[in-house]
Amino acid sequence: MRDFSNDCANLALNTATLGHMLEGRGAGWSPEQVIDACAERGFGGLVLWRREVGGRAFEIGERVRAAGMQVAGLCRSPFLVGPLAFNSVSETVEDFNAAVDTAAELGAATLTVVAGGVVAGSHSMSESLKAVTEILASVAPYAERNGVKLGLEPLHPVYGGDRSCLVTVRDALAICRNAGSKNIGIAIDVYHVWWDLALEEQLSTLGDVRILGYHLCDWLAHTKDTLLDRGMMGDGVSDLRKIRRVVEDAGYDGLCEVEIFSEDDWWLRDPEDVLDTIVQRFKTVC
Ligand code: ZN
Repeated sequence: MRDFSNDCANLALNTATLGHMLEGRGAGWSPEQVIDACAERGFGGLVLWRREVGGRAFEIGERVRAAGMQVAGLCRSPFLVGPLAFNSVSETVEDFNAAVDTAAELGAATLTVVAGGVVAGSHSMSESLKAVTEILASVAPYAERNGVKLGLEPLHPVYGGDRSCLVTVRDALAICRNAGSKNIGIAIDVYHVWWDLALEEQLSTLGDVRILGYHLCDWLAHTKDTLLDRGMMGDGVSDLRKIRRVVEDAGYDGLCEVEIFSEDDWWLRDPEDVLDTIVQRFKTVC
């Protein structure tokens, strides 16, 4: 297992951690302010959101690299299926390709992909997963041609209905194989897998599927909101060290991305303090 106690070269910030995910949340820092603050602290990379990148993807990507960091990823694809998805598959594909274009301009290694919830009227996780697989198979070649890997992220089962019919690593691996593209890998997020005692067993069946991202935060014992009350590493009940060991044993050696959506706590704090806390926790409890 890698030793993170001395530096932050393997640490990445998902900018939503500073409240960028929703309009009017957080301190409202520009991408440039975030880049400078992370570079000063020795972060290895950043993960940005489409809404903050806008039409400036190339410029922002260059700025990140000039500051000595990587653009580890872009959030995110549209929901592919379910109640939060576009009305038609053609709109979904169009938006997906636009996300790929932005990721390519940004020089982002990976585009995070969210599956979306259960297809209306299907009453079926498996039918919904099949629909996800079909859409992914159709968009993967375009992403591959543009040099953007697709990081399929299984979400916690609490989101099964609306945000993600994909709730286990097992099913994510099946989609990667069935979609028939080596350009699709998986992303592991502590928030979504911390409860799963079968994580190690599932990751032992990776085969040639790659882990493209590892996301850090914590699950608070008394969480007040399953979307916007994520905990800082060390404040919750997840076995962070064990999860990282399992992920690294499965071959992951990339950046660890801190991704904390916390509207009543961390988004209300001074971003400088949030970043200092992340650095300290990364070195001591992750
Ligand atoms: Zn995540």
